Amino acid sequence: MSDVMVDVRGVHKSFGPLEVLRGVDLQVRAGEVTVVLGPSGSGKSTLLRSINHLEKVDRGRISIDGELIGYRRSGDRLHELREREILRQRTHIGFVFQNFNLFPHLTVAENLIEAPVHALHRPRKEAAAAAERLLARVGLSDKADAYPRQLSGGQQQRVAIARALALEPKVLLFDEPTSALDPELVGEVLEVIKDLAGSGTTMVVVTHEIGFAREVADTVVFMDGGVIVEQGPPSAVLDDPQHERTRAFLAKVL
Ligand code: ADP
Ligand code: MG
Repeated sequence: MSDVMVDVRGVHKSFGPLEVLRGVDLQVRAGEVTVVLGPSGSGKSTLLRSINHLEKVDRGRISIDGELIGYRRSGDRLHELREREILRQRTHIGFVFQNFNLFPHLTVAENLIEAPVHALHRPRKEAAAAAERLLARVGLSDKADAYPRQLSGGQQQRVAIARALALEPKVLLFDEPTSALDPELVGEVLEVIKDLAGSGTTMVVVTHEIGFAREVADTVVFMDGGVIVEQGPPSAVLDDPQHERTRAFLAKVL
């Protein structure tokens, strides 16, 4: 199964007495888009955060492109990696948050150049040229010298996506990328994500946008109570759900 890019196996995670992930298995193949749906509190963000080791799982393991995330194996034991190694692994995992998280004191172009120069030691000139290409790709060439506060939410989120791409990640994780946007700005961000999907970027997208899931997802995953209740192609999960919990959720959001 060499084309599995994201491999989540038997992952458990608790916060104190609250078990938030209760045995999650998820495989995302290279070039495919997985959309994760589920009610608030079902563990979606915790799952994404576990994939890039922002959360340390209690049980199970996660690999990206065959590389164990957060740990190294020695015999039959796992040892947590040093912070440096974890940061190196994270450069391969792009993360787009609900609230953009751009650096407010840097221009749009500088936001894109910072990580390739500091984390990947790319020459500044090369990073600047890449930033220019990426801004064109998200339709923001004219905003290179603007500061985040001068942009609309939709534009800021497009910059955040371009910034994630600047590290040429193996996988892009999106946590409700349009939930903080005014309704009229949602479409422009979904268009950018759709365009990435068409170009073969491996993605895991947590969203409540069912229309987007139907159109773009290869696989739709429905989570509830810390487990994956069902998953499959959009036509199966969205149009012919097998579980009552999925039906109840879809009835509320559709
Ligand atoms: P979702 O993204 O599906 O809404 P989350 O993964 O954010 O769900 O949260 C799942 C549950 O875990 C929620 O009950 C939330 O309050 C709890 N939780 C998340 N992060 C923490 C944390 N750092 N400490 C304690 N509880 C947390
Ligand atoms: Mg969440």
